[in-house]
Amino acid sequence: MTDQQNSLFETEPQPWNLDDLDDFLAARIAFADPPFGPYDYSIPADLEAHVKKGVRVTVPLGRGNRNMTGYCIDVIGPGHEAAKTVNPKRLKPISRVVDATPLLNESLLKLAHQISEYYLSPLGTVIETVVPVGARDNSGTREMLFLSVEPEVAKDLDAVKLTKLQRRILETMLGPNQDWTPGELAETVGCTQGPISLLRRKGHILSATRRVQQKTHEIPSEKRMSDLQLNAEQQTALDAISKSVDAEEHRTFLVRGVTGSGKTEVYIRAIQQVVEYGRQAIVLVPEISLTPQTRRRFRARFDRVAVLHSHLTSAQRAWHWKQIAQGNVQVVIGARSAVFAPTPRLGLIVLDEEHDGSFKQDNTPRYHAREVAQWRAGSEKVPLLLGSATPSLESWHRAHNGQYDLLSLKKRVLDLPLPDVATIDLRDDFGGKKRFSPISQKLRSEMNAALADGGQVILLLNRRGFSTRIQCPACGKVEYCPDCSIPLTHHAAGNKAVCHYCNYEVPEIRKCSDCGNTAVRFSGLGTQRLEVEVAKLFPQVPIMRMDTDTMRKPGSHEKALSQFREGETKILLGTQMIAKGLDFPNVTLVGVVNADTSLHLPDFRSAERTFGLVTQVAGRTGRGERGGRVLVQTFSPDNPAIVCATRHDYVAFAEGELPGRAEFHYPPFGQQARIVVRSVVQAKAEQMADHIAECLLAATDELGLQLSLLGPSVAPLEKLRGNYRYHMLLGAVEDRAIQQVVTRARKSIKEIDDVQWIVDVDPYNMI
Ligand code: ADP
Ligand code: ZN
Repeated sequence: MTDQQNSLFETEPQPWNLDDLDDFLAARIAFADPPFGPYDYSIPADLEAHVKKGVRVTVPLGRGNRNMTGYCIDVIGPGHEAAKTVNPKRLKPISRVVDATPLLNESLLKLAHQISEYYLSPLGTVIETVVPVGARDNSGTREMLFLSVEPEVAKDLDAVKLTKLQRRILETMLGPNQDWTPGELAETVGCTQGPISLLRRKGHILSATRRVQQKTHEIPSEKRMSDLQLNAEQQTALDAISKSVDAEEHRTFLVRGVTGSGKTEVYIRAIQQVVEYGRQAIVLVPEISLTPQTRRRFRARFDRVAVLHSHLTSAQRAWHWKQIAQGNVQVVIGARSAVFAPTPRLGLIVLDEEHDGSFKQDNTPRYHAREVAQWRAGSEKVPLLLGSATPSLESWHRAHNGQYDLLSLKKRVLDLPLPDVATIDLRDDFGGKKRFSPISQKLRSEMNAALADGGQVILLLNRRGFSTRIQCPACGKVEYCPDCSIPLTHHAAGNKAVCHYCNYEVPEIRKCSDCGNTAVRFSGLGTQRLEVEVAKLFPQVPIMRMDTDTMRKPGSHEKALSQFREGETKILLGTQMIAKGLDFPNVTLVGVVNADTSLHLPDFRSAERTFGLVTQVAGRTGRGERGGRVLVQTFSPDNPAIVCATRHDYVAFAEGELPGRAEFHYPPFGQQARIVVRSVVQAKAEQMADHIAECLLAATDELGLQLSLLGPSVAPLEKLRGNYRYHMLLGAVEDRAIQQVVTRARKSIKEIDDVQWIVDVDPYNMI
């Protein structure tokens, strides 16, 4: 029931007789902007043929009947289950229909509903995410004039008095090509536009304008590559997937394969099968993996591959969208949003590097492409492949529950060994010194050896913007909250250490709580400082830094990688950006400058991220004949995340980590939602956060559900772009309990001016 209808029911009894209403039609309209709706409107008789699910319409909104464009999400006739809730006499009529054909099909509309419900986002906003902006505003199209012969004239040319030239013009138009523009016609006939215009004036030729797509893009093709001979593990995996493809059934496969085990080759073979059946496949990868290497790899195996990356113009995006919708594309490769590619006959979805955080969108709707792919594959009855060397614990848990089928590739292809990984204990290196080099003696000498041998070096330092922490440099101890198993954060303002989940607070920690050392450290090192230090140590060696600051421009990432491939750069240093998917046989040494940067972030996933990152970056070496070596610098060489990464032992890591998650009901054993409140006025943000918390608790009681609420507290990132931030974390074990509670609470939450707040279901960002 819509909000509008809801309030109707409260104010008056049912004033109409349903029997009179056989022929009514109402359309349910959702908006991308407040007040979002959905609201019902009546359909004027002359628009009946044009109002369809998935088209945009213009409607009068509110008391002032402001014109507003919204999406038609349902058409309600007498037999419709919602029919009883509609009082057609009270409805305002739709003013105009915007689109001639629906912008999204039934399947995508259903997906939009699922996203809206699960991620608590307005349906209109979700639809705007599903349909790219270019496809909505006709980007890359233009109005063109098309000519046709008047039907009576076409029946019998002899009945009309014509000159020889005029006759030739009309005969040409009646040939096999029916789509004539004046220019093309004149060129084909070999005349000027004059005689064509004359025929138009006489009414022998009719003209009409039509909106057509400009050719904005070509899908390039690549030199063909033949299939590789799969090894036994790859073949076993493919066989299992093939069975599902043949059966046209939905099933989710978790393909866990060590780095370089040939997962992509398995996907390609499964996709070939799907394409042979005349169906399409969607391949989702992290944006950063949409390299020319990936494109070439797929284009060498399939004729029509669309690559959707973030640097496409909206006209190009719209062009691809239409090509895909028309079934002209076999394989769609893209980042997160490609999960909405409008393939007419989907056959398979692949989500590679499924552990990657970039699959989660960090603005509304805050969806995770893995979840959405799961829903889509389920309703379109196709297999879903999730691939990773280090699967998310969520997926691993589902594989163990039997929700997913696990396929393992335990060996690298061609019997290449996994690289040898050793740790360097920074506590030894520090040795009480006040200032120490980020590159230890050992790492430095190994770098020298690798470079002298003609090899290349990758250095990883994953220092993101926010990362103050309290750590003892002598014993490595990091100070934790006693209640949350989350590291405490040092606040210079106020001289205190705070837990950002529960607000636990102690005065400034000056002494290590383990060894009593009084030189505790509050911050670390970023890639920028690292670059300077490495340049000092290796003055003659070409170095490149790769992080979000240096890779802003479109194409800069590709350029940097090609320089590295060509050997112009010898040392590549950067953030997690360099850990993903790169395949450079000449990299003989990988150095992790400080494995602890991601280990002690105020986030329960920090160990998982660290394990994944170290394993992924280690996988960048040993891909050629020269082998490879990995050195991991850490203050915590005994931390299970690091120990397991050095042993390439995912299973041990997962088994060690899961019990802790279970104890605190963290995912995958429970669901979370994070609420972030922000305002330029600190007191207002705090007041709103308290108010929301009260409403959430009241709603939890009313519904009789079990929910935990941590906070509200100051967010780790206290102030962002001039806004003060507060947050709270909801936890629940029962499926959809959080959605029910938030939906109920929203009815009683009163907005405060200058305060914004958001709900993030299944949050990945905790700062
Ligand atoms: P992953 O995706 O697991 O990291 P890839 O599919 O990228 O692994 O494979 C790594 C490399 O091994 C690629 O260069 C690929 O062409 C090659 N490769 C994959 N399968 C085979 C095979 N069966 N025989 C030989 N080489 C293979
Ligand atoms: Zn705490």
